[in-house]
Amino acid sequence: MAVPLLDLTRQYAYLKPEMDKAVLAVLTHGKFILGPEVTRFENEAATYCRTKYALGVASGTDALMVALHACGVGPGDEVITTNFSFFASAGVISRLGATPVFVDIDPLSYNIDPSAIETAITPKTKAIMPVHLFGQMADMDPIMAIARKHNLKVVEDAAQSIGSEYRGRPAGSIGNIGCFSFFPSKNLGAGGDGGLITTDDEHLYNLCKILREHGQQPQYYHRIVGYNSRLDTIQAAILSVKLPYLRQWSEKRIEHADRYDREFAGVKGLTTPKRMPYTTFHIYNQYTLASPKRDAMMAGLRKAGIGCAIYYPVPFHKQECFAYLGYKPDQFPHSTKAGNEVFSIPVYPEMTEAEQTEVITTVKALLA
Ligand SMILES: *Cc1c(COP(=O)(O)O)cnc(C)c1O
Repeated sequence: MAVPLLDLTRQYAYLKPEMDKAVLAVLTHGKFILGPEVTRFENEAATYCRTKYALGVASGTDALMVALHACGVGPGDEVITTNFSFFASAGVISRLGATPVFVDIDPLSYNIDPSAIETAITPKTKAIMPVHLFGQMADMDPIMAIARKHNLKVVEDAAQSIGSEYRGRPAGSIGNIGCFSFFPSKNLGAGGDGGLITTDDEHLYNLCKILREHGQQPQYYHRIVGYNSRLDTIQAAILSVKLPYLRQWSEKRIEHADRYDREFAGVKGLTTPKRMPYTTFHIYNQYTLASPKRDAMMAGLRKAGIGCAIYYPVPFHKQECFAYLGYKPDQFPHSTKAGNEVFSIPVYPEMTEAEQTEVITTVKALLA
């Protein structure tokens, strides 16, 4: 039996009447740019993320760009981030003319190692950008303590972690700004690109709001140069239909993760993902295993028709575009090992019990 890594058609089949109605309503009223559905979704998202403000933008990447820009990051500045993430986390820092400064991960959580942050701070450091990878938040208490001590801003890359919680506090509500993505493969996926910024800081909210529309305030008057980055009204309408289901979808993912954890416990040559003690809600955007035999495992899974993928094979310090930063290949052992050994298997909410059994049996057979 083939099992896809993700199957979005099942979610649509389940929500079709509501989704069709919401999209057709937008086509009918015609307010395609910043229509009423956008404000409505922003209010719902702020409630979900437990922040005062939420602002829709065109993508998760743009959320990070606008957030860092609003925090004053620009040429000559340094931003500290993890060495192991999706490319956008580092790319946005470079695109703002600033220098990304990479820090190795904690090998248990795959998230930035807080104890390695302080030695990376220089007089040029402006911000820290932790990434909440795979649906689990980074260890935020020590990160916030370091930021307070050195007067740095914290921008959370929560693209993979909407609704996840650290000691009871949701992703995007702890740092100065939180950034989310509605790329279709995220836990809350749009019908295309979309992103969101969350904050409790009225000044940062207003600045981000101006930045998303060319920096204008009022219309056609520009004190600053901004972006063209709005959440489409149609995407907001789709997201409002899906948001009420998000918590139960994440709980389904946890159920699947629990079963994998039980089935794979003690299997030789396989490391299951750790739920850290400070994680009070893990949303499992990915269920990520590690194995020294990763490449053979992946080949076997593909041959059996089981969806799997590597998030992410190449840590930032080994990316060609960052060669100019001068890192040494052996500088970040934990992220390098993760890049060589991790692979993710299906964990989406609509996966059936029989499909998961197939994944489990195949993984075990390949290691036997
Ligand atoms: C998906 C993702 C982004 C970028 O989001 P887009 O909406 O695709 O631009 C940024 N950071 C992380 C960690 C992501 O997973």
